[in-house]
Amino acid sequence: MRKTKPSVLLIAAALCSAAPAPVVLALLAHEGKSPGPRKVVDPGPAGGVPSDAIVLFDGKDLSRWRSGGGEARWKVEDGVLTVVPKTGDLTTRDSFGDIQLHLEWRIPSDVKGEGEGRGNSGIKLHEAYEIQILDSFGSTSSPLTQAGAVYKQHAPLVNACRKPGEWQSYDIVFRSPRFDSSGVLKKHGTFTVLHNGVLIQDKVKILGRTNSTKPVKPDLKQPFFLQDHGFAVSFRNIWVRELEPEAEEEP
Ligand code: MG
Repeated sequence: MRKTKPSVLLIAAALCSAAPAPVVLALLAHEGKSPGPRKVVDPGPAGGVPSDAIVLFDGKDLSRWRSGGGEARWKVEDGVLTVVPKTGDLTTRDSFGDIQLHLEWRIPSDVKGEGEGRGNSGIKLHEAYEIQILDSFGSTSSPLTQAGAVYKQHAPLVNACRKPGEWQSYDIVFRSPRFDSSGVLKKHGTFTVLHNGVLIQDKVKILGRTNSTKPVKPDLKQPFFLQDHGFAVSFRNIWVRELEPEAEEEP
């Protein structure tokens, strides 16, 4: 069926009403002001990397990463990055503010142990706020520390885990906390997370630094790291897109 343009419907609705509802008039006024898409992004093939993404790991090298103050020491083999336990977290050399982050991760198929001992790793945005990585397939362990939790702050909405040994994905939208010039928090950061394509965190408020009372640096842009928690968790296909501020923050 041929679609009627929204503007025609809105005008018709306004004319048919003896006293146009304020919401209709507001929509008519708004319609001409929408800026539209900010730019064109080529998404690439299914499962590919968007044209404006910064690729942090493409299966070849760790040039965009460091461990502590030195070179990254995790293993790269057959296009896969794997934690070498006790070599330290893997931290980005670049700093990021608001981002969309994609990464894929895999718990060892022979993982043993209980609770947080089942292939623990994680992603710490701004080196402070953790999205948990863990084997939580069929898990009844603590909701606030299972895979996909904003660690000890927000449980995932659903458990979308695959089995150990299978690749899983996170797509994370991170909105950085905002601080005033004296370092006082003026707006909480937020996380939105898709786990294997399933929404598990829906713009939840970041309540503070994970597992620490240490003050957060008030910088808008900071590195993030992948956690060495002593397990040989693997990663691949890691990229970020830097995001514009949310609309209400614009002048
Ligand atoms: Mg962890």
